[in-house]
Amino acid sequence: MRDLYEILGVTADASDEEIKRSYRRKARQLHPDAGGDGDGFKELTTAYEVLKNPQARANYDRFGDPRGPSGAAAGDPFAGFGDLSDLIDTFFGGGGFGGGGSPRARQGGRDAIVDVALTLEEAAAGVRREIDVHLSRACEVCDGDGARPGTSAVTCSTCGGVGKVQQVTRSVFGQMLTTGTCPTCRGTGSRIAEPCEACGGEGRREVTEVVTVDVPAGVDDGTRLKLHGRGEAGRRGATSGDLYVRVRVAGHETFRRDGNDLHCELRIPMAQATLGAELKLPTLHGEEVVKVPAGTQTGHVLSLRRQGMPKLNGGGARGDLHVHCRVETPTRLTDEQVELLRRFAELRGEDTPTSGQGKGFLGRLRDAFDF
Ligand SMILES: [Zn+2]
Ligand SMILES: [Zn+2]
Repeated sequence: MRDLYEILGVTADASDEEIKRSYRRKARQLHPDAGGDGDGFKELTTAYEVLKNPQARANYDRFGDPRGPSGAAAGDPFAGFGDLSDLIDTFFGGGGFGGGGSPRARQGGRDAIVDVALTLEEAAAGVRREIDVHLSRACEVCDGDGARPGTSAVTCSTCGGVGKVQQVTRSVFGQMLTTGTCPTCRGTGSRIAEPCEACGGEGRREVTEVVTVDVPAGVDDGTRLKLHGRGEAGRRGATSGDLYVRVRVAGHETFRRDGNDLHCELRIPMAQATLGAELKLPTLHGEEVVKVPAGTQTGHVLSLRRQGMPKLNGGGARGDLHVHCRVETPTRLTDEQVELLRRFAELRGEDTPTSGQGKGFLGRLRDAFDF
C-alpha cells in the first residue's frame, strides 16, 4: 500500500487546507473524464477521505490504518460513509490487518479484544491463563457454510458468482464507473437456497468459549498479545479475525515498575545504616541479601543488577532493581537506650539540650530566656 500523504503529494505535517488544495489539483488530472485511470482516482479519493477526517488521520498516523489499531474492529469511523467504507476495505484489507480482496476475505470475521488481569509477580514469571470469551465461531451443524446439511449453495444470479457488481456513481467530477460488493450475496458469489436452521445461514454462531493464553514473562500493562485467527468467525466459512489479549498489570505494594526496572524502598535501622549491615530483601525472583554499606544515608540508592523485570522476548535478559534506602530514627526508647544515645552524642561532641554539657542553639536559647 502506498503512503497516503505521498498519494496526495503533501508532507505528513500538511494542513487541512493544503491537503484539500492538493486533492483538487490532482483530482482534475486523475479523473477518468480527464483521461486518468479510475484506480488512480479512487486511490486519491480514498487518501483524501482519510486525511480530511481528523480521527481517521490520527489513526493512520499512529497505527497505519484509519480504522484504528485493529482495523475495522475498533469502532469504524466510516460507519456512515457507505461506499467509502468499502473503498477503505479494499485499500487496507477487510476484517482487520492484512486480509485480501477476494469475496471470501471480504466476509472475514472481525478482530476481538479481551482483557487479562495479572499481578506483577505473574507478569514477571509469565503465566498460563484460561479466559472466557464470548464471540462467534463456525456453526458445527452446517460446518460453517450456512447451507442446511445435505443442501449446497447456488451461484448468485445477480453477480454471476463474482461477488462484485459495476455501479455508476455521480460525483462533482461527473459520472464514474465503480465496482462494488454485490448487494444480493454480499460478496460471497453464492446464494443459499435452504439456510442452515441452527445459524440462519450465517455459518457462524455466538458461543462462550474458554481460550487458553500463554502470557510470556515481561509483559507490561497495556501489552497486547495476538492470537492469530482466534477472533470472530467469518461469515459462511470466511477467514476468522484475530483475538487480541490486552494485559492489565496491577500495581504492587512493594515494587514500582519503570520499564524493565523495579524500584522499592528499604527501611534500615539507624545503627545498621551507621555501621553497615547485610539485610534480606524479598524480590520478585525470591530473596536477596543486600549489603548496606556503613554510613548509608536516606535517599541512597543501591542497584541490584538483573533483579528487575524480565525483558519481553528478551532471552532471559532482565532489568535492575533499585533499592531506595530510608534510615529509620528509633522511637520508644528505654531509659537505658536513652542513656546510651546521650553518651554517644557526648562522645561525638553533639549537643543534647538536656545534657547540660556544651551549648548548642537550644542551650543558648535556654540561657537567654531562663526556662
Ligand atoms: Zn449453520
Ligand atoms: Zn452476488
